This record gives sequence, structure tokens and C-alpha cells, in this order.
Amino acid sequence: MDLGDPALAMTHALACLEAARSTTDLSLQARAHVTIALVMGDVHDDVGAATHFREAEGLARSARDARGVAVVNVNAAHYDMERAHFASSTLRLLTLLRSPYASALHFDALRLGLDQVFHINFTRGAASALLGVGVDEGELQQQLEARRDEVQAQLTESQAALQRLRRGEGRLANTRWQPDVLEALLVYARFVGDVAQAQALADEWVQLATDWNVPAQVGRARLGRAALWAQTGRWPQVREDAGRAAQLFGDEHPSRALAAQQLLAQAHAAQGQWQAAFEVQQALSTQADRIYRAFMQQSARLRVIERQAIEAEVRAVAFAEAALRDPLTGIPNRAGAKRRLDHLCAAARRGRSGAVALLDIDHFKSVNDRFGHAVGDEVLRRVAGTVTRAIREVDQLARYGGEEFLLLLEGLQLPEARRACQRVGQLITEIDWSDVAPGLRVTASIGVAMIEAGLNQEQVLRQADDAMYAAKAAGRNTVRVAGLPTHSVD
Ligand code: GH3
Ligand code: MG
Ligand code: MG
Repeated sequence: MDLGDPALAMTHALACLEAARSTTDLSLQARAHVTIALVMGDVHDDVGAATHFREAEGLARSARDARGVAVVNVNAAHYDMERAHFASSTLRLLTLLRSPYASALHFDALRLGLDQVFHINFTRGAASALLGVGVDEGELQQQLEARRDEVQAQLTESQAALQRLRRGEGRLANTRWQPDVLEALLVYARFVGDVAQAQALADEWVQLATDWNVPAQVGRARLGRAALWAQTGRWPQVREDAGRAAQLFGDEHPSRALAAQQLLAQAHAAQGQWQAAFEVQQALSTQADRIYRAFMQQSARLRVIERQAIEAEVRAVAFAEAALRDPLTGIPNRAGAKRRLDHLCAAARRGRSGAVALLDIDHFKSVNDRFGHAVGDEVLRRVAGTVTRAIREVDQLARYGGEEFLLLLEGLQLPEARRACQRVGQLITEIDWSDVAPGLRVTASIGVAMIEAGLNQEQVLRQADDAMYAAKAAGRNTVRVAGLPTHSVD
């Protein structure tokens, strides 16, 4: 995932989703939605991220994929924390833990370390929430407060698991999580008021990040330590760490840079350096404004990409449907009819009855010759409309080609099918053409065949065709049944 370029990342994530959708693998689709959520979250599109996390969770639940549900929630909880929504993060993880999907945490066959990420996120989230830092979440915080004992018990357990990992008992599934373990334990130490331990952890975190030599990581660690200094009122150290962090984040991580500068301004103010505090604060507001605009633009761009993908999908579905429809009459075409006939043939093999009728307009060529092609077209449209309205929902009229129509009748026995066709033939003769061409009369010849279990599509169609020609031979405007002697409209 290329988070350096959100638009590119979004395009890739949507391609993943499309590929996942072409399979019926719901878990795969869920993972694609998680990726999209993370890309949207990267440009602070909280609503977009939440939508895709929800979508992902729904799919994973439908797939009964415990690991999928756990992955979605652990990721969403982490995302909540990045926005300093510690109460929602904690409540989400608690809900996961009490659900049947928690089995994925306890039994991690692929050793992905889901339980470890859970403990990292829970420790940081719950300790921060109980410490009262982060965004004011109102009612969610009250909900968390109501479950304080439960939260504390799990917090004790989760941080103990992290302590064991830090001591080297057990292995981290991913060494890149090392700073996250230290960060979580640092917040926990702050929560229980163990300042010495907190300081040791903060120093270890900064040291580790410095060894790794990744600027953003060093920035994070220094910002974490600055927050600790601020809590203990050691303002010169806050200035040192927060100032460095702000530089390290720079334009690459604007929202973190802002947080660092906020602490810096606080440090100046706490030391009575009002002018310096004022200047940092002033720079902050213009910067915040710029960053906010940039994120807005980026997330708007992502929404456009997302919408285009949805529209492309809708178009693809529309094209697929259009391919099965006759443009002149609006009813299914031969391909559409064959699809339906496939179903009916399969149903016949399971013992369900059904019939096929081939309907051909009589002397249609002379309609064209006498009244013109446009009138011929209108005849086709009106016949199609009249018959379609007259048949049941389960039946289907399709334009088979030219002035031939195929009528598919589900669940009927031969006498009923024949009666239905006679009624259709009668209706066609009764169509009012006075507004189209005075003196026009339209009739049709219809051949009916039963869909017998042993017959394939071609055989059924040939029988109906033979019966239709028998109707023509008998003088037209009549119904003939395959393999039976004469039956007429009257
Ligand atoms: P029959 O009673 O034996 O069926 O005679 P017919 O004239 O209906 O049969 P024929 O197959 O000789 O002629 C069919 C005509 O249908 C020829 C063709 O020009 C016309 N036709 C086919 N498709 C269309 C169409 O979409 N619109 C119009 N107006 N005419 C069409
Ligand atoms: Mg014909
Ligand atoms: Mg004809």
C-alpha cells in the first residue's frame, strides 16, 4: 500500500476490491474494504474510513470469518486511537473480546500476532482513555466509565502480556511493533503513576527509534516522551523533544507535526515565554488551516476515484443487462431467452413442467410493404407489450429475431400451455391499430412444445418451430402443439 500517494493507493485498493468481488470470497472483499478504509483514514476522511470498516465487518461476519472480524476491529481500533478517540477504540476491542469472534485472538493458527496487536492497542487505548487524554467523546466515555472494572481487568492482563514480550518471553510476530509495545507500556506507566518506569520506557523508545534511524519513528518517540515531560512539568525537556519532533515530522506527517508544535507552544507558555508561545500558536493556526485544506482536497479526490469505480461497476452491470435485451421492444432478446430456457430445462430435469411457444407474426413482410417499416416496428413493439403484460410474472416473452417471439411458460402442463397460447393469439388479433394504420390487422401463428426432461434446448426449440410451421400450414392465426394433431384458436 503506497500511502505516500493516496490517489494511487486508492486506485490500487479499489482494484483489489474489484478483483475480490470477481471471486465469491467475502473475506477477501472484507480485506479490500479494510485497505480502502486505511487509505481514506490516511487523508483524515473519517466518514469514508468508518463506512468501509463497517462494510468490511459486515462481509467478514457474513463469511463467518472470525479472523476477518478480528482484523477489521483491531485495525479500526488502531485508527480510532490515531485520532485520539480512545474510548471508542477501547469499547470496540472490548466488544470484540466478548464476541464469538474472539476465538481468532486466542487461536491464531497463522501466528499473525493478532493477540499481540490486540494487547498493544488495548493497553494504549484503555490507559489513555482512563488517563483522560484525547478527544472528548461524551457518551462513549460514560459507557467506558460504567465498565471501568472490566476495562481495568483487561488492561492489567494486556499490559502484563506486553511486559512479557518486552522481557523477551515469547516473540513478537512482527519486530516493527517493538516501538508500539513501548508506547503502550509508557502510557500504562503514566496511567498508574509509575514515573520512573515511564521515563525508562520513553528513553528506551527514543533510543530504539534513533537506532532504526527512521525520522517519523524518532518523531513519534520524542513526541511520546514530550507528553510525559509535560505531565511531570519538565518544560525545558518538553521544548527539546517536541521541537525536534516537529522538525522530524515536517510536511510528511502534518497532523503529528501539529501535535508536536501544540506541546511546544504549551511549554513556552508554561515558562512564561509569552511572545514565543504566541508566535508558535499563530504559526500553528495558519498551518492547521493549510493542512486541513490539503486533507479536504485529498479526501475529495479519493471520493471522486471511489465514485468513478462505483459508476464503472454500475455501467458494467447495465451493459451486461443490455446485452440480454432487445432495443426495439425492450423485452429480452434471444440471448436472454436462452438463459431463461436453460433454467427451465434444468427445472424439467428436476421434474418441473414447462412449455415453450414460438410465435411468428403472419404476413409481416406485407405489413412493411403496405404501411412502411416504421409501422412494422410499431407492430413489433405493441405485440411485445401486449403479450408481456398478459403473461404471468414467472413467464417470459422474448424477441427471438425478426418478427418471431419466444414465449417461455413455467410450471404449466400441455393443456394449460395451449390455452395460454390461444389467449395470447386472441389478444394479438384484438390490438387496436386505428392510430397506427387504419385497416391494419395483425395475427400470429404459434407453435407450442413441452420442455421434456430428456430434451435439450435445441430439440425443444425445433419442436416448437415445427409446430409453428404446422400452424402456418394450417392457414395461420392459430396454435399448434408439437406432436399432436390439429388445434385451432377457436
Ligand atoms: P409468414 O406469415 O410466413 O411468417 O410471412 P412473413 O411475411 O411474416 O415472413 P417473412 O419471413 O417472409 O418476412 C418477415 C419480415 O419481417 C421480413 C423483414 O423485413 C421483416 N422484419 C424483420 N425484422 C424487422 C424489424 O425489426 N422491423 C420491421 N419493420 N420489419 C422487420
Ligand atoms: Mg418469420
Ligand atoms: Mg412471419
